[in-house]
Amino acid sequence: MTDWTDIAPCRGMDGFTVNEDEWQHGDDLMDLCEPQLPTCGPCPFRAECIALIKPAQAKFDGIAGGRLWCNGEVITALDDVDVEELAEPKLRASCGTEAGAGDHKRHGERPCPSCRQAAREMTARRNERKAKEPKQLQIDFATTT
Ligand code: SF4
Ligand SMILES: [Zn+2]
Repeated sequence: MTDWTDIAPCRGMDGFTVNEDEWQHGDDLMDLCEPQLPTCGPCPFRAECIALIKPAQAKFDGIAGGRLWCNGEVITALDDVDVEELAEPKLRASCGTEAGAGDHKRHGERPCPSCRQAAREMTARRNERKAKEPKQLQIDFATTT
């Protein structure tokens, strides 16, 4: 099956992102990237592009989905962009963390070995902490009336 990234108009083109040491301000990004923006004009994959790059959450700098982004904010866009293209799936937590294990579960996957280990360690640490806590006095109200 052909992946849409193989047939996107920007395939093989440079200048959609720039190295961090090549720019400082939004103006620099405009100079470096804006000339490539019209490439997104006929692209039928703008929504897919944004869903893949997640520019807002990833604080992306460069061109994605017919917009030029600076630190995750749109600084210029093609005239015909549509807000519906902006939906970003939530970034997943990195593997090897308890949050990563939770994300595997939310996606109906079996947590990967490093996430399983992280979850085990967190549970062990929590149990250890609980064992050290002073036992709370339990008062059974039902029997004191
Ligand atoms: S919308 Fe994304 S995939 Fe399409 S041309 Fe622009 S940068 Fe490439
Ligand atoms: Zn994982």
